[in-house]
This record gives sequence, structure tokens and C-alpha cells, in this order.
Amino acid sequence: MSDFLVTDIKFLPGVGPKRAELLNKELRIFTYRDLLYYFPYRYIDRTRFYKISELNPDLPFVQVKGMITRYYTEGKGRGKRLVADFTDDTGSVKLVWFKGTKWIMQTYVPDVEYIVFGKPGIFNGIINIIHPEIEASGKVAERISSAFQAQYSTTENLKNHFITSRTISKLLGNLLKQINFGLPETLPDYILTRYRLMGLQQALLKIHFPSDGSELEKARHRLKFEELFYIQLNLIRYKNNRSTKLKGFLFSNVGKNFNNFYYNNLPFSLTNAQKRVMKEIRRDLGSGRQMNRLLQGDVGSGKTLVALMSMLIAIDNGYQACLMAPTEILATQHYNTLTKMLEGLNIRVRLLTGSSKKTLRKEISESLLDKSLNILVGTHALIEENVQFGNLGLVIIDEQHRFGVAQRARLWQKNNNVPHVLVMTATPIPRTLAMTLYGDLDVSAIDELPPGRIPVKTMHFFDSERNKVYGFIRRQIAEGRQIYIVYPLIKESEKMDYKDLEDGWDTISRVFPSPDYCISIVHGKMKPAMKEESMMLFKEGKAHILIATTVIEVGVDIPNASVMIIESAERFGLSQLHQLRGRVGRGSDQSYCILMTSDKLSKEASSRIEVMIRTSDGFEIAETDLRLRGPGDIEGTMQSGIPFDLKIADLGKDGQLIEYVRNISENIIKEDPMLEKNQNIILKNELRRLFSKQQSWSNIS
Ligand code: ADP
Ligand code: MG
Repeated sequence: MSDFLVTDIKFLPGVGPKRAELLNKELRIFTYRDLLYYFPYRYIDRTRFYKISELNPDLPFVQVKGMITRYYTEGKGRGKRLVADFTDDTGSVKLVWFKGTKWIMQTYVPDVEYIVFGKPGIFNGIINIIHPEIEASGKVAERISSAFQAQYSTTENLKNHFITSRTISKLLGNLLKQINFGLPETLPDYILTRYRLMGLQQALLKIHFPSDGSELEKARHRLKFEELFYIQLNLIRYKNNRSTKLKGFLFSNVGKNFNNFYYNNLPFSLTNAQKRVMKEIRRDLGSGRQMNRLLQGDVGSGKTLVALMSMLIAIDNGYQACLMAPTEILATQHYNTLTKMLEGLNIRVRLLTGSSKKTLRKEISESLLDKSLNILVGTHALIEENVQFGNLGLVIIDEQHRFGVAQRARLWQKNNNVPHVLVMTATPIPRTLAMTLYGDLDVSAIDELPPGRIPVKTMHFFDSERNKVYGFIRRQIAEGRQIYIVYPLIKESEKMDYKDLEDGWDTISRVFPSPDYCISIVHGKMKPAMKEESMMLFKEGKAHILIATTVIEVGVDIPNASVMIIESAERFGLSQLHQLRGRVGRGSDQSYCILMTSDKLSKEASSRIEVMIRTSDGFEIAETDLRLRGPGDIEGTMQSGIPFDLKIADLGKDGQLIEYVRNISENIIKEDPMLEKNQNIILKNELRRLFSKQQSWSNIS
């Protein structure tokens, strides 16, 4: 039967090669299973029939019983349409088609009772239904009975080929009839009983053809449970295997470099959160098992210092460490910070980026191999084939969400031995999302900012209030402050009325003319050397204003810059706004974040702006972001390694269920780590089926 599910969809009655090709292409349905797991996006109550006299354009999809009394055409050219008067004992409504009109007239004849199904609209004051679905009323009884008509998303191309939501429903009906209660269960009996879950067969039937609301709920719950459960089970089994099988390098001593730094070079005392996280990391490093830890901490919480001290421990134990950042600017900044903080200690640090010169590369590769280089900082360049370490003991990845899984994989393979991995992210991730995205990592959080920070004031101005903002900038510059102005994109599509970077540059240089003002600019398309030069101009305080795209988003640290102006702020996601705001508020002066938006704002954009003004708590912002936009849009989710599209669960809304199944998974693995017990064979097989393709990368993280 499980072979049956991988049958090519073209063999299903009602499909055939042509429709199969469309289903492949448009909906990625290739097999019977794909169709079975193509879930409806909503349901229409089919227990209720409307009378034609009741129809009005405010109603959702409705069904009406009646007869076609006549066909005629209306309109000319592209507006030409076929109209049918559809009548019951209360009145008449127009059914309208712009396409496939010949077929319609041949198929649906006058004076036969039909059930018409569609969304009432209004045109010239007359109620109509455009492109309704029609079914002979006798046939409805033959169908698998369901009180709720499932609606499936389709595409324009499918509709043009008469594959509608209802076609899909029919195909599912055909398929379920064939299956006829022969589907193998995918969860063990004891789980079904213990957690009171509907059987798979039943759940699949009811998700497509629910006979009432509570059954539908049970079906949905079962399928969501299963989807989330296997993700968690996979992560936890993997995490467990790794921690029992992999021997990590044992960093048993905290030695002279660490102590030297701690007692002589550290210019401030650690925050409690930093101390706690260091303890967690030291415990990992000294455990003899390989560390895989995610370090979350808001912008400015002092993650770099934690990274540095961890690297010193590696060095004290005779190993090399590397620190990888997503952009050249960040890598360079890390390099500078580290070199400065390590002054006076005998530690060799080098920077490797895409623009590193050949001679430097040569020096680096030699000193990596002879182990005289202690720390290598860099961008993706670090994971190029030809970069070989002598004894890499610790890998630190900053701003992790920008690295794809494949890239992490390559880092991992650098070495036959497995280095410890610390992944740092300044994008707080809601707990339940982190459980899924980084569910096999241990998590530490720095939830406290260094003392003495003055909270950033956030304000919102409309484009029409621009002059006020310029006045404010002028006063701030007069007081010696520096200003960031960030634009969403360079070279935005001409039609869109967003101020793009180049417009911005023109305006700003007119309003703040040289020689009184110096303006510098950085964006993604600049040559690295140019970028560096512009950045330096600003960093050294020579430029008053830095105009930038989001390249400055992460990590750039310039304490004297106290104003962050974000243009077209409505176009940024919450997490991104939060990241940008984190660039200011690092010095001893009051800092400001000014959100500029167009005068008209969507409801969602307004609520984003409101959240930004209300709170500076990164976790709260992340939660809101998840709620407002859903996980699909959260930066990095796409590449973060969810192995497949979630078909029914929603990482944003099903947080509770995620925690629930994670607990269950943990208990199962605790009792049966290799899933060898008889009762768990199903689990093992399902995991293999679901995840075997990506086992290779799940070795990573
Ligand atoms: P993150 O990478 O988490 O955004 P950074 O490591 O860049 O933050 O730290 C932000 C700033 O705070 C840096 O200038 C850093 O030197 C400073 N800092 C870090 N830890 C402390 C501390 N315990 N006390 C005071 N300042 C600190
Ligand atoms: Mg940082």
C-alpha cells in the first residue's frame, strides 16, 4: 500500500498524462501521496442553500439550487461574456463567463436542476456570479458526502485548463475510493491512544471531506500533530545521537591567554547574562562532547566578547578558532575589534575576505597549516575549498541566519575532527520557532544589555513632514552627532514611489550641502574598497551623514552615530527595523530612531510602526513579527533548513502544539534513543522516509 502512494498521479482516474503534467508543474503534485496531502485552504458550508432573493455581494461563497432559463452574450471585445439567467422560486441571478463559453453551453443545459456554487458579486446594480462552479443536483448525492466543501488553491493556468478547486476535490474523491481503508498508519498505536489522535485514514478522509466541524478539527489536529512531531523527533534524535556519538575536543583548561585577557585587557566587567552564557559554553567545551550552541542576544548585548573569550579558551588548549560573518564590513569590524581587544597578548589574528590579496592568502594558508595562526576572521571566503586549518577547534558563526545550511555544512567538513560550533544571532527568534529552526542546538541567551545604555527614542514621521526631520538632523549634527539614513533598496522599480537610495542621495546633498556637511554612502553594489573607504569616513567622524542600504544592518558599531533614519520604513520587516535601530544607542548620548513612511499606510504597516515605538524588546518584536507576517517571511527561514514545506501546521500559530510534540519526542528518545523497540518501528521508518534525503546536511548546524 505504501508503494501505492507513490503511484504516478497520471494513473489516477480522471487525470491522464496532460492533466498530470499540469498538476506536476503548477502544484508540484507528482504522486498519489502528493495529492492526498494537498490540503484545502478553507471550507464552504454545504449544508446551507441560499435562495436567490437572499444573495448579496457581501456574502462569501454560497450555493444555490435552480435552473438555467436562457443563455445570451453581453459586452464587446475583451468584455464580451456569456451570461445565463439562473432562476429559483424566489428570483433570478446572472451567471457570467468570460472564458470556455462554448463548453459551458454544451455542458449545462436549460431546465435541468443544478447546484451553483460561487461568490455573489454586483455589476451595474445587478447581482451576478462570475465563473461559478456547477454541478447537477443529482450528482451531489453521489459524491462522498461532506458538509463542508473543501476549497483548494489552484493557479490561473490550471483554471484555464478547467482544473478547478472542485476538480481537485473530485480527484481526491476518486483516490480515496481506491484507497478504501487500506492506508498504513504512520503513527504507532500507543501514540494514537495516549494522545487521543484520529487514525490517518480517517484524518485524510475528513480533512478533504469533513462531515462536521468537530471532525474536521480532529482531522486537522491529527495531521498537524504528525507533521510537527516528526520534525521534532528528527531533531531530537539527531541531537541525541550527535551528543552520544561525537567526541568533541576536550578544552580542559582555561589558561594564560584567557586569564591575561580577562584580568588585563577587559575594559569592563561582564554582565550577569554574559557570565552565565560563558559558564554554559565552558561546560560544553570541557565536556568532551562536541558543542553545538546557538547564542541569541539582542543587538548590542555583547556577543562579540563572548565569542572572543570562547576563542581564547580554544587557543589555551592548543586549537585554532575561526569567526565567520556574513558581510565584509562586519568581518572587518570583528577583525578590528578583536585585534584591539587582544593588544599586548601574543595572539595572531588574520582577516580573510573575498578581496584579500594573494600574498595575504598565501601567508594565511601557510600559518593555518603550521598552526601559528590562532584566529581567522572572515566572510564566506573562510569556507572555500582551499582554506585548510591545521587544528580548527572552534567555529563561531555570527548572524547565523544569513548563512545557508549548505554553507554551514562545508565549514563542518573542514576537518576530520569535528570542531565546536557556536552560532550567534542578533535576531531574536521566538522560542517555538527556534525549536524548529534550530531544534537540534542548545540555546543560550544574553537577555540583558550592558549597563548605562540610554534607551533609543523611536519616532514616526510621514514623508510630508520631511522638513521637520531635516531640521532635527541639522541640530543633531550641530551638537556633534552623526546620522544614518537607510534606504530599503538601490534602484527600486521606477514605477514605485519609494525614495530610493539615489534620489535620497540627491536630496540629502542638496539639503546638507558641502563644504558645511560631509556625506558618505555605502551600498551593496559598491566595490569593497570603496565601501570600506566610505565606512571609514563615517567611522572616523569625518562624514556627518551615512547614506546606506541595509548592508549596515548587522553589527556595525559606531557609538557617536546617534540618529537612525529609516526611509520607507513600511517596507521593512519588524526584525529588520529592530536590527537597524540597534545601530544607535551605543554611546553616552540620547539616541533616536526615526521611521519615515509614506503618508498612506496599510493597517499592517501601521501596527509594525506602533510596535517599534512601543517596545525595544527584541523577543517581543520577533513574536509580533511572527504573528503579523507568518514564519515564511521571516528573514532566513527559507534557507534555514526546514526540510520541507509545512503542509498544514503553522509555525506562527501552532507554538503550543510545537512545545507539546517536542516534549513527547524527548520522552520517546529518552526511553528508546535508537528507536529500536517494536512499538517504535513505525517512527523509525517514517523518519527515514521523511528525512533520509537531507540526512547529509542534518549532520551540521
Ligand atoms: P552584539 O554583537 O551582541 O550586538 P557587541 O558585542 O558588538 O554586541 O557589543 C556592543 C558594545 O557593547 C560593544 O561596544 C562592546 O564593547 C560593549 N560591551 C560588551 N559587553 C559589555 C559589558 N559587559 N559592559 C559594557 N560594555 C560592553
Ligand atoms: Mg555583533
